Amino acid sequence: MSSLEKPTACILCECNCGILAELGGSDSRRLLKVMGDRAHPASRGYACEKAHRLDHYQNGRDLLTAPLRRRGDGTFEEIDWDTAIREVSQRLSRVRDEHSGDAVFYYGGGGQGNHLPGAYSTATRRALGSRYRSSALAQEKTGEFWISDRVMGSSTRADFEHCDVALFLGKNPWQSHSIPRARVTLKTLSKDPARTLIVVDPRRTESAELADIHLQLRPGTDAWMLTALLAVLVEEELFDQDFVSRHVVGAESLFEVLKSVRIAEACAHAGLPESLVRRTARLIGGAKAFSSFEDLGVQMSHHSTVVSYLHRALIALTGSFGKPGTHFVPTVLVPLTGGASRRTSPVVSAPIISGLIPCNVIADEILCDHPKRYRAMIVEAANPAHSLADSPRMRQALRSLDTLVVIDCAMSETAALADYVLPAATQFEKAEATFFNFEFPHNTFHLRQRLFAPEGARLPEAEIHSRLVEALEGLGEAVYKPLRDARAIGLEAYAQALMPVLFDPKLSGLAPVILYRTAGLEEAQREGAVLLGIAFKAAMENGESLARAGFAGTPIESAIKLFEAILNQPSGVVFAVDDWSQMMARLGTPDKKFHLDLPDMIEVVRDLAAQGPSARDARFPFVLSAGERRSYTANTIIRDPMWRKKDAQGALRICPSDAEGLGVVTGDSVALTTSTGSAVVPIEVSDTMQPGHVSLPNGLGVSYPSDEPEFGSGKAAGVAPNELTASSSRDPFVGTPWHKHVPARVERA
Ligand code: SF4
Repeated sequence: MSSLEKPTACILCECNCGILAELGGSDSRRLLKVMGDRAHPASRGYACEKAHRLDHYQNGRDLLTAPLRRRGDGTFEEIDWDTAIREVSQRLSRVRDEHSGDAVFYYGGGGQGNHLPGAYSTATRRALGSRYRSSALAQEKTGEFWISDRVMGSSTRADFEHCDVALFLGKNPWQSHSIPRARVTLKTLSKDPARTLIVVDPRRTESAELADIHLQLRPGTDAWMLTALLAVLVEEELFDQDFVSRHVVGAESLFEVLKSVRIAEACAHAGLPESLVRRTARLIGGAKAFSSFEDLGVQMSHHSTVVSYLHRALIALTGSFGKPGTHFVPTVLVPLTGGASRRTSPVVSAPIISGLIPCNVIADEILCDHPKRYRAMIVEAANPAHSLADSPRMRQALRSLDTLVVIDCAMSETAALADYVLPAATQFEKAEATFFNFEFPHNTFHLRQRLFAPEGARLPEAEIHSRLVEALEGLGEAVYKPLRDARAIGLEAYAQALMPVLFDPKLSGLAPVILYRTAGLEEAQREGAVLLGIAFKAAMENGESLARAGFAGTPIESAIKLFEAILNQPSGVVFAVDDWSQMMARLGTPDKKFHLDLPDMIEVVRDLAAQGPSARDARFPFVLSAGERRSYTANTIIRDPMWRKKDAQGALRICPSDAEGLGVVTGDSVALTTSTGSAVVPIEVSDTMQPGHVSLPNGLGVSYPSDEPEFGSGKAAGVAPNELTASSSRDPFVGTPWHKHVPARVERA
């Protein structure tokens, strides 16, 4: 590593691959070159092409440099930080005092690479008494969390490196990754004649091209495909009888329904040859080690929760858990998943899963005269005006709030609606980390040190929350000084002095800020202070896993060792080492068994088996998949359209026969209409699509002050998918949106 190369991580997907960034340019603030960091314990030198474009994020023209306050005429004016903190804390505390903290809603807290803001925001929320929150996870994953919690009491990941049969369900890891070194793993699976790669996707994706079996079903019919697959397993007795008898409760209730499934009919509903489904079932049933992964292709489509249930049933009935090449429960530093709480949302009584309100009801919870409606909102490192369903209505909801405060590094669509915009440091201008740590048996964590000082008046979120909490709570030297004195003696004395704080009901909720103010870390890693508290919790809960990774001792000793390792290893650290033999004990159900006897799910399976997919609305003969991941789409944190080398406007993909029917060719524009809105979009004719199915990429439609004539100053490049989606189109159980199945009409423009 040269002196110009700095270890950090890519922030464009949940893998957060370790990278070495070569810094340079006239002000030394450019990421000139990026390559995979071989010292990173999870990615081991792997990085895809997207990471090379990160300079478009760090040097975006729409980065904020000063706090902004909205004027009476609707424009923004710059204000200093003292004024911003004073006015924001006064306005939010006024809402709390008049209506209770429940009226202050929090959204966001981080994206795929920045989870520390969420950790610090807990102190601000505590100071405001704000209990309701949500994030993009409630757009995508809460159905899977809810089902996993009910079936297994835990969430699982899979060991694709050692399986002999791999299944990706509504998932294109070539582009959306999620598993470490995804492309290497896919290619290895594909090349090995002794291993089988199965991809379920209505589109012939890059992953499907590599697959041994591509189940190219009709959009939205995954539930029928899985029901047929499971019915074959039962009919041909391909399931793992020994595992089921020892570790599964309630399999008989599901078997009873599966035995009544008309397999040929279910395959026909999915548009698949029965012979192919049977062959797939035999391969899965006969696998020595079966690994599977479901993602947004099914989690944002029809019958999403029941598909998650059937997927869990496939894992349980094939005994694909707790041995190499199958599924496991990782040790996590911060749990992001969980089940339903007893509380529901205050206005529409929507379920709260993993602590999150369903994204699709947020506008309903604001746009009403209900006394418990949300009246103020803090949005942090998120962009709900762009990323949530039915953007026009979401904008209306955000505009109607008493107070909207946005904490972000860029002028997003949501920031443009705010009363106050608090400029945050970019992810390379502070220490930052992700809690998407799901490796096994060696699990890893990476605290990235900052590469640059924040530009202008931007501040790390840790500093912003500390100032807000100090203004709201009067927190200050009386609490900080004794801790700073202890820190001057050493980390152990500091940790001992912290104990009373962590167990003090008045102060424990403010601990992130107290740690940030007193841990005395160097500037480049200062925002990592909260990790001492997190390491202590991990040592209390997972002491044996930490000890196997070299962090043995009492919880305090173990936490200090881990904290020091995190600070001293700039490419990441192995924080937990586990063993397959512990897996059954990791199931979170009281009896440590899988529970398939979920009456609500079984009832849906029974109903589906008796009927086919519902007929399409004649006004909208196409199914639009809104939000396809492509080579140059990621999350929306890179707003500069020039980061995309190809497909700058995000073409609508359509199959050759549909294009011919419309009389259009690649590059022509079409009018795309849904029940929510309409857009004109260029098309790409692609034989990867099937008739009646069109696909738009994710992440487009964000505004940017570009000089490029193609985009124009401040104009959005491409179509923002949520201008076309409806918030009412959602899963009936958990409220996750069905963005992958939007009824649409396509016409010549
Ligand atoms: S986009 Fe994902 S897989 Fe690609 S380099 Fe970034 S983190 Fe790694």
